[in-house]
Amino acid sequence: MTENNKQNKVDVIVVGAGPAGVSAAITVARGGKKVVLVERGTFAGSKNMYGGVIYSHAAKEIFPDFEQSAPIERFVERHSYVLLSDGEDSTEISYRNPQNEKSSFVAIRADWDRWCVEQAVKEGVYFAPQTLVNNLIVEKGKVVGITTDIEDYYADIVIIADGVNSLLAKQLGLREKMKPGNVVLGVKEVIKLPRETIEKRFALQENQGAAIELVGGPFAGMFGLGFIYTNKSSVAVGLGVSLEDLKNKKLKPYELLDTLKSHPYVSKLIEGGELSEYSAHLIPEGGYNSMPALYTDGAMIAGDAAMLVNNVHFEGTNFAMISGKYAGETALEAFENNDFTSNSLCLYKKKLLNSFILKDLITYKDVVPSLTKRSASFLGYYPSRINEFFNIFTTTDGQPKKEKFRKFAKYFFTKRSLSELFSDGFTAIKLIFGILK
Ligand SMILES: Cc1cc2nc3c(=O)[nH]c(=O)nc-3n(C[C@H](O)[C@H](O)[C@H](O)COP(=O)(O)OP(=O)(O)OC[C@H]3O[C@@H](n4cnc5c(N)ncnc54)[C@H](O)[C@@H]3O)c2cc1C
Repeated sequence: MTENNKQNKVDVIVVGAGPAGVSAAITVARGGKKVVLVERGTFAGSKNMYGGVIYSHAAKEIFPDFEQSAPIERFVERHSYVLLSDGEDSTEISYRNPQNEKSSFVAIRADWDRWCVEQAVKEGVYFAPQTLVNNLIVEKGKVVGITTDIEDYYADIVIIADGVNSLLAKQLGLREKMKPGNVVLGVKEVIKLPRETIEKRFALQENQGAAIELVGGPFAGMFGLGFIYTNKSSVAVGLGVSLEDLKNKKLKPYELLDTLKSHPYVSKLIEGGELSEYSAHLIPEGGYNSMPALYTDGAMIAGDAAMLVNNVHFEGTNFAMISGKYAGETALEAFENNDFTSNSLCLYKKKLLNSFILKDLITYKDVVPSLTKRSASFLGYYPSRINEFFNIFTTTDGQPKKEKFRKFAKYFFTKRSLSELFSDGFTAIKLIFGILK
């Protein structure tokens, strides 16, 4: 290493100031090591987009007192799951638990990520915004630093937390090109509404929030879901759809979003609002089967870069924060042993395997492939039929119920053969047993 390189050397470099990177960096700084957190955006969060919900458990692991000063929009008091029909009706299941009101909250990423980095800087992290990492420097098979537009920087360990596209993990050959079936495109609009209107429409009290997941409707059986989350004075409406489905059906995501917004369930909630933001981002949804190698000599990969997302439960930021924390802890242990090779960094994977992150990803590893194959049924046909059933159940029109239910059953069996129904039932049972196993 040249003299100049030595001057630019720290203990750990973390690339990407999203939830994974900031958690890794703050963990390393708390262990007394010199750490630089490099971010291409003008500030942390400036490039980041998501639906809106962060889980308090993970946030507390990194910032135990976050509730006192973090930019929280609303704590999620109401979780709703809404089955949209292909017409205008909808069936809703809502869950509210006053005992558990603070287990998740809605936050705006530009505010939350920036606040997280401010805390990290207070604890000794050196933050380098507006710095694009072009490449990793690899010497004798070990990652020893990064190249940026400004200068090259060196470190004993580099933690790669550069998000879903992770060019750096690809450069190391740890990640393959993403298959369209393993990635979902998310699009979102933020619609401004007065605070009181939001509380009235969503039946919330001050500071309470709603997280609503939308199944069926315009997705026409594609592998996709919609969502509505309440901020203080705006509502986020969005959706995520498999890139493969968008490609095959030649659909544009914003057209789908317009259709979703025009469904009466959604349109009533956002009526009169003013569009203030539109954004799009990819979500890695391949789960355990698409996960790359998580470490190599001198480097570890955390968060979306490592494809750590549980799409069934809408968990991404918490996986990012906890995986970042484990990468940080592993780096500290590597310093204790003065060993920065894979022999030492394999501890990172062990920590993930012993935690809910890889345990859950292993539990759900077959869920997405199964649901994708049968998405026309599970995410299209059945939601519509459930709505039809409730339409019959809740309306009177002078017709005897028996006749109406017979017609319903006849239609149900005409559109789905017995073998398809059997196969869907079998898939559902297999998924339930796979999860419980
Ligand atoms: C539409 C949508 C809805 C979602 N909803 C939710 C939700 O409600 N709840 C939830 O928990 N999760 C949700 N997620 C997932 C969640 O956003 C991600 O899992 C999480 O942000 C991953 O964090 P991360 O730190 O790994 O990556 P990111 O948040 O993507 O951060 C990566 C950072 O690296 C920086 N970077 C990238 N390349 C470079 C480079 N070469 N040099 C320097 N910096 C670089 C980026 O600018 C960025 O700041 C959603 C995602 C989407 C797209």
